[in-house]
Amino acid sequence: MSNVPVAVVTGSNKGIGLAIVRALCTQFPGDVYLTSRDPQRGQAAVAQLQQEGLRPLFHQLDIDDPQSIRALRDFLKDKYGGLNVLVNNAGIAFKVNDTAPFAVQAEVTLKTNFFATRNVCTELLPLMKPYGEVVNVSSMVSASALGRCSHELQQKFRSDTITEEELVQLMTKFVEDAKKNIHEKEGWPNTAYGVSKIGVTVLSRIQARLLNEQRKGEHILLNACCPGWVRTDMAGPKATKSPEEGAETPVYLALLPSSADAPHGQFVSDKTVQPW
Ligand code: NAP
Repeated sequence: MSNVPVAVVTGSNKGIGLAIVRALCTQFPGDVYLTSRDPQRGQAAVAQLQQEGLRPLFHQLDIDDPQSIRALRDFLKDKYGGLNVLVNNAGIAFKVNDTAPFAVQAEVTLKTNFFATRNVCTELLPLMKPYGEVVNVSSMVSASALGRCSHELQQKFRSDTITEEELVQLMTKFVEDAKKNIHEKEGWPNTAYGVSKIGVTVLSRIQARLLNEQRKGEHILLNACCPGWVRTDMAGPKATKSPEEGAETPVYLALLPSSADAPHGQFVSDKTVQPW
């Protein structure tokens, strides 16, 4: 078994994920795994970084596929005995002009951005080594969508005692309400992406609390973040930040020094803790 520290970035064959891997290759003292659901796209991205003189490693990971998540988990357990840095970056967004019905957008968006990200955490958080870092890439849109939820939903999402099960129930309810076209009446904002990222931010707050309660002495720091508005296939060419600039906050959170005990359980943008 290798004692080398190991970092994994989900959805890193392009966009912000690729830029995070690029930065970690020069700044993280260990093995860095570029992962992709499609091995060809993943290997092409590895080859691109190799041309830049970097040495990322590759592992397949489709976060929508529980078997793929378990295969990565077993690989990390066998080869490294755990994991030091996990960046949950993989995500999707329908384009604003997409004609797919809102109910479909709600189901598909929540499936990947919330439920699949949670599945990755369920399998990989137990592998996190002491002084490790977990970064969940959310969005400022989670904060603006929270502000457009009913008072009752806002209270639940801001609660310091909400459980993971309760959050899963709420995210499931959003998809069901969208299917019945009663989501706005039920207090939800009209944004599937926004609700999915509320889920990611609240999940991060819950997971950080569980780490405090159950693994206090291990100094694992877990945060949600917004990369900013970044020029990628998701956000388009008009966005203000380059992928490298978008990677800055996630990389900062992935490389917090072992002496740091904060930020933890926070929502961070531009390397600054944001109110929730
Ligand atoms: P992007 O260019 O579209 O890249 C998304 C990445 O996620 C791709 O590598 C994609 O793989 C991967 N992915 C999607 N579904 C996956 C799955 N089921 N399993 C594994 N990988 C999957 O988007 P981006 O702008 O870099 O976004 C990265 C993260 O930042 C997302 O979580 C996004 O919500 C968040 N974010 C972005 C912005 C922005 O302005 N760009 C702002 C706020 C937050 P494929 O190539 O196979 O599709």
